[in-house]
Formats: sequence, structure tokens, C-alpha cells
Amino acid sequence: MSDHRILLLGPPGAGKGTQSTRLTDEYDLDHITTGDALRANKEMETEYGTPGEYMDAGELVPDPVVNEIVVTALEDADGFVLDGYPRNIEQAEYLSEQTDLDVVVFLDVPGEELVDRLTGRRVCDDCGATYHVRFDPPEEEGVCDECGGELVQREDDTEDTVRERLRVYRENTEPVVEHYREKGSLVEVDGEGSPDEVFDRIRDVIEG
Ligand code: ADP
Ligand code: AMP
Repeated sequence: MSDHRILLLGPPGAGKGTQSTRLTDEYDLDHITTGDALRANKEMETEYGTPGEYMDAGELVPDPVVNEIVVTALEDADGFVLDGYPRNIEQAEYLSEQTDLDVVVFLDVPGEELVDRLTGRRVCDDCGATYHVRFDPPEEEGVCDECGGELVQREDDTEDTVRERLRVYRENTEPVVEHYREKGSLVEVDGEGSPDEVFDRIRDVIEG
């Protein structure tokens, strides 16, 4: 386990999950992702209702629920890639009380490309591997190359919900990007091109 502490920021569909998998393999890091953790607990009853009620509408799950997930995951991690958090300024302030970060990478991808990426995304129901119907198709349609599991579309990857998630991103998460830019810790990486090309750019940043 190495001790890089990497924050991967970017809009929904920028490739954070795709690049996190590569980073965790390359540098032996923990992948801390609030999206996956919440999907595994969609029906959990909290005082705010269930996470699924917010997620299926494309809205943010309330901060106390998400902060709790992150603080627990950070306790167990030396090095990590943090993906999907913080998504608003309050979460960014909470995070700064919990840990320092070595690098903040912002994956830059234009809006219309994001809609194509998200509406074409398919994920394995068993192992969670991510594909794209056009940009990264499996060998056999609907079947995971890794484990043979069934590929499904996430409930929030329909066009209407994708557009709401992008609106929520602009309203709540773009200020977080600005926050790290003003602090001088943000490194922008071009998120277009193949996943391997994007990964090479991120690796150059980390090995600086
Ligand atoms: P995020 O975690 O930021 O929401 P994902 O990593 O799940 O994004 O990627 C969203 C979709 O875009 C997936 O279907 C994935 O296969 C595809 N994708 C990821 N990186 C690229 C890329 N560089 N070029 C084209 N498609 C990509
Ligand atoms: P993701 O897998 O990162 O695309 O996240 C899917 C959904 O989970 C989001 O649209 C939100 O509803 C919820 N979610 C994930 N991370 C957070 C977070 N940091 N704060 C609030 N909600 C979150």
C-alpha cells in the first residue's frame, strides 16, 4: 500500500471511476467512492429517507449520510483515490478537517460528451466493471468480460436524470473545483481521448 492521497474531481461521466480503477491498481491504493457506497445502501433508512430517493432523482444525498461514509473509509486507508466526494463546499470543508490531500486532479470533459458517456454506460451487476455501448463495448453484448455477469444500465443514467445530475454538478460541485483552484492545489487534466491516454496524463501529474 502506497501513501498517495489523491482527489479525483470532475463532472458525472468524466471518467473518475474508470481512472480510479487504474490508479488503485498502479499505486496500490484504496478506492473511496461515495457513489458505489451509496448504491450498496440505496434502501438504508436514515432520518432523511433512503439514499435511493435522492439518487434516482439525480439529487445529492444529505451531507451527514455521505460524510459518515467518507470518514469511516478514511480511517482504514493509508493511500487512497477519493472519487465522487466532495460534491459541495460544505463537504469540502468537512474533508479538510479529516485529511490532507497530496494532489487534486480535475478531469475536464465537455458537456455533450458527458451526456453520451453517461447514457451509454453499462455496469456489471455482479462485479461493478464499467463499459460503454460504443466507446468501450464488452466482447459479447450485455455480458461482462471480467466475470460473465449481466450488464445493466444504472437507474440514474437515463437522459432526463443525467441532465439533472449535470445541473446539480454545475450548481454545487463547480464551486468545489473553484475552491481547490484558488488554493492552488488543482491540476487540470484533459479527460478526452482514450482511457489509456487519460491515464498517462494523470500518471504524469502524480509522478510530477
Ligand atoms: P464517472 O465515474 O466520472 O461518472 P465513468 O468512469 O463511469 O465516469 O465513465 C462514464 C462512461 O464513460 C463509462 O461508460 C465509461 O466506459 C466511459 N468512459 C470513461 N472514460 C472514457 C474515455 N476516456 N473516453 C470515452 N469513454 C470513456
Ligand atoms: P456517482 O456514482 O458518483 O455518479 O454518484 C451517484 C449518485 O450518488 C449521485 O447522483 C448522488 O445522488 C449520490 N452521491 C454520490 N456521491 C455523493 C456525495 N458526495 N454527496 C451527495 N450525494 C452523492
